[in-house]
Amino acid sequence: MSQFCLSGIIHSTSRPGTRAPSPRRTDLPRDLSAFQVLCDFDGTITRTDVTDAILEAFALPAFREWQGRWERGEITGRECLSRQVALIRADRATLIRFAADIPIDEGIVALDQRCAEQGIPLTIVSDGLDLLIDTVLRRHGLSHIPVISNHLVWNGNSFPSLSFPFPSPDCWTGAGTCKCAVAASGGFSPRETVYIGDGRSDRCVSTVAQHVFAKGRLREWCDLQGVDCEPFETLTDVVEHLFQKGEQIE
Ligand SMILES: [Zn+2]
Repeated sequence: MSQFCLSGIIHSTSRPGTRAPSPRRTDLPRDLSAFQVLCDFDGTITRTDVTDAILEAFALPAFREWQGRWERGEITGRECLSRQVALIRADRATLIRFAADIPIDEGIVALDQRCAEQGIPLTIVSDGLDLLIDTVLRRHGLSHIPVISNHLVWNGNSFPSLSFPFPSPDCWTGAGTCKCAVAASGGFSPRETVYIGDGRSDRCVSTVAQHVFAKGRLREWCDLQGVDCEPFETLTDVVEHLFQKGEQIE
């Protein structure tokens, strides 16, 4: 599997506009050899949203107030998540123990294998928390997959805070990790990107990626906005559709 360097990833990107781009149709690539596959984590690789589960289990109740302010559009997703993580009252070992038991969509194993066989870079891109992602991946022997996400910081404290190594201040979503900027980095363009996701942080990249596999709220949003996507239920579905169609053409 070819890997690409993640350092300085945001600096090499073309910045999106401040408004949501116009919806357009996306086609499944006929030849995947020049493509990258980007995959969301929370709710896509895991069967439940790990970030939400951690907040439910360990954050002070005020985290719901920040959630409400974000959903009403009063604050960015980046600020919301930062405020919420500051309310977590659990140490590093406790979070690791909790995340280790989160169930995954086993189709990620086949997706990883098929991408590796064909030399297609697969990267997990998440607006979630790196410690939890690393824990889940290690548990399932998948820690070789590159991850771009927000970063939990401890600084000798018992409880974490959050930093954002991959922001894009210009992205209209205000997410902590801007996925549309990631799609335009690492030597690829959004038109050379297949994207797989399920939620709100997947919106910006879904309007620019060449092909989008969507489920859950992302699928609903794509339908409302007229953004073309291919619905899926499991990552096994994605593998079948992605590689079957690619091979038919070749
Ligand atoms: Zn973005």
